[in-house]
Amino acid sequence: MDEHVEGQVIEEELDPERETRRRFALAQIRQYPDAALKMQARAVEQFDDELRDLVRRMKLLMVDAHGIGLAATQVGVLRRVFVFQLAEDDVRAIVNPEIVERGDETEVSDEGCLSIQGVTVPVERSLHVVIEGKDESGEDVRYELDDYEARCVQHETDHLDGVLMLDRTTPEARREALGVLRPRIVLT
Ligand SMILES: [Zn+2]
Repeated sequence: MDEHVEGQVIEEELDPERETRRRFALAQIRQYPDAALKMQARAVEQFDDELRDLVRRMKLLMVDAHGIGLAATQVGVLRRVFVFQLAEDDVRAIVNPEIVERGDETEVSDEGCLSIQGVTVPVERSLHVVIEGKDESGEDVRYELDDYEARCVQHETDHLDGVLMLDRTTPEARREALGVLRPRIVLT
């Protein structure tokens, strides 16, 4: 299987209704080079209904867009919160996430991004991380993650610092990706 963090590099045919939902969701996700994607998100201080509404909306968008992760900066909200798929039908939110442990072992694998449609680039990530933060109700959460999930939360945490996979890849892959992205930006 292709590695694709966030991205929906799905070859399967979608039924027309799901495809419409996917397009509608993607239209609500900021696309490169939107300025919000380069901005630093601020810590969340209040665990209120507004935060829970944001999390609910992000979970729906992520699922509809066929992603496995989505950061608040990608919907133009500069708060430190992201959602990610922990298991099938189990999407979690982490507020004010901190990666508290990174394993020494790393792997280079292709990543995609819901905000950078149509390209994947190789990124080196730790294979094992421990991440801590709060859930949308303000309860402490801690996840020990490997492989795919570990890669995903590193990608999402980067988003909250305005760092994109294009900033983490090789100069060659970056150049190639920008070559694909530029003509499309002109057309849309
Ligand atoms: Zn992304």
